[in-house]
Amino acid sequence: MVLVYSEDKDITLELLSKGSELTESLDEELSAVLIGEDDPDQYIRHGADNVFVVKTDQETFKAEEYSDILVELMKEGEDEVLLLGADKNGQELAPRVASKLDTGCVSECTALYVENEDIITERVIYSGKALAVERFDSKPAVVTVPPKLFDPLPEDEERSGELIEKEIEVSPYPSKIVDIKEKESVGVDVESAETIVSCGRGFDNKEDIEIAQELANNFEGNAVGCSRPISADLNWLPEEHWIGLSGHKVKPRLYIAVGISGQIQHIAGIRDSDIILAINKDEDALIFESADYGIVGDLYEVLPKLIEAVKEKKT
Ligand SMILES: Cc1cc2nc3c(=O)[nH]c(=O)nc-3n(C[C@H](O)[C@H](O)[C@H](O)COP(=O)(O)OP(=O)(O)OC[C@H]3O[C@@H](n4cnc5c(N)ncnc54)[C@H](O)[C@@H]3O)c2cc1C
Repeated sequence: MVLVYSEDKDITLELLSKGSELTESLDEELSAVLIGEDDPDQYIRHGADNVFVVKTDQETFKAEEYSDILVELMKEGEDEVLLLGADKNGQELAPRVASKLDTGCVSECTALYVENEDIITERVIYSGKALAVERFDSKPAVVTVPPKLFDPLPEDEERSGELIEKEIEVSPYPSKIVDIKEKESVGVDVESAETIVSCGRGFDNKEDIEIAQELANNFEGNAVGCSRPISADLNWLPEEHWIGLSGHKVKPRLYIAVGISGQIQHIAGIRDSDIILAINKDEDALIFESADYGIVGDLYEVLPKLIEAVKEKKT
């Protein structure tokens, strides 16, 4: 069995898509886990053969207790793989589950497949300079997968599957959640944006970011992003805009990098973009190596012309 779990519905659907490929190669069943209240049928419609609907007295996510729940489910079946989202909760769960099951764990896999009945994973290491290809020699394979790496399978209203209700009692751990505070949001979601205009140190001052916003405004589902110095060093934009290895990983249809040099730590966050357009006055800038299209020029000359051209095209 391949078991899939994330607290986030969208990530679960993405994991099911990858999971269905694995189950085909392994000739196994694909199961999703739902802890708490939600519609379990949606997982069937998106590829699961069955869904474990877990009833628990846990009121909120706690890695210790939730990993016990997953371990309980894993112990029941002859599981080959546990797929978890490489989101905050998944990253807390994966090593705990693997350690409790005395098996291996690979995090942030960018590829996952079966070769000669072995589970093989690939993941980017050294900030994107190398790719580690690893083979599991223990079972089950516990793997985390970053969000937005795989597209969910199309919804199939005709699919049927089994909903298996489980009541799992877990003993409480001594740690307690005393308070949960929502992070203050500035209303920017670069991870879901379809088009991102991203600003780097090539901008002379904070006010000029308006020009990037003006270009972005011409696209549906737009957002303004930035390199780390713009957010972390200069404080010109909040960290919601920050893209890269230590910032957000994005997957837009169009990424426009303006005045960004293209260091590996920035590229690590944008490598899944469909199309990258780079604007830089230095023709030898590294960013051009990762770009599909490049404009060599001063952003203060290029951006107004580009805005004009996009507006003209729209009309
Ligand atoms: C552990 C670690 C994690 C990191 N994580 C991240 C991360 O998540 N995201 C990230 O972005 N960085 C990250 N960095 C920093 C990264 O290494 C770079 O320092 C950073 O990406 C550089 O930002 P930049 O391209 O905006 O600035 P610079 O490297 O200074 O580049 C500015 C570019 O603008 C061009 N330019 C200047 N003026 C103009 C103009 N008028 N018109 C057009 N082009 C112009 C220049 O030619 C240059 O290429 C990390 C570093 C470390 C060590």
